[in-house]
Amino acid sequence: GSKPIVQIVACLMPDFGIGNKGMLPWRLKKEMKYFKEITTKTENPDKKNAVLMGRKTWLSIPPKFRPLPDRLNIVLSRSSSDWDTSELQEKGMISSNNVHTALSKLNDPNESYNTDIERIYIIGGGEIYNSTYNLCTHLLITEITTDLNHEMDTFLNKSDINMIFERCEDDQEWKDFVKASEYSENNITEGDYKYKYVLYKRK
Ligand code: NDP
Repeated sequence: GSKPIVQIVACLMPDFGIGNKGMLPWRLKKEMKYFKEITTKTENPDKKNAVLMGRKTWLSIPPKFRPLPDRLNIVLSRSSSDWDTSELQEKGMISSNNVHTALSKLNDPNESYNTDIERIYIIGGGEIYNSTYNLCTHLLITEITTDLNHEMDTFLNKSDINMIFERCEDDQEWKDFVKASEYSENNITEGDYKYKYVLYKRK
């Protein structure tokens, strides 16, 4: 495969917590705007990005906001059924029962939807993130800290990440990767949370 495959995820540091009871434990408006811009933006105006997610993450998006617009939405489920409707397929959602198949299709020049895809963003949740590190070229992690005490039940696998990826300490590498001229400031405070966008690249 030749397209970048990028996990994009917001984590509570230092434990890489990402969710609780099927939901995000926080609501960060600017961070959601960043997610939307980065996953939508392409260098080539004729191309789109793909967003790949697990069924539970798909269902955590309010129905009126899914499929995520201007991106090819691919939803993973081992047993697609009632939630996978023809109405959604008409709106451009594709379901797949195998993450490897879905990713190789996106990189297969013979697949009709391949040629128009620039980057593949893996957007969650825990099960999907933790089973795809070996397939990913980069991680875009929003590293969050807070004094609030959050109960969390879903985490990224910290030791896998540290084994496979190195954290880019230099902001410039992150900036170049997201082509983020508009993100001049990268130490953000929103309510009780502080966060920073960080690029992790393969060792
Ligand atoms: P996921 O969103 O990862 O979905 C899991 C489901 O995906 C499985 O039940 C299965 O569906 C399907 N699936 C998983 N692996 C495969 C595979 N290899 N092939 C085919 N289908 C597969 O659920 P999680 O519970 O792990 O994560 C959800 C949590 O993550 C929530 O709390 C959410 O808020 C959080 N989250 C956090 C993000 C962040 O940036 N902080 C981003 C995204 C989510 P089925 O059961 O139908 O077979």
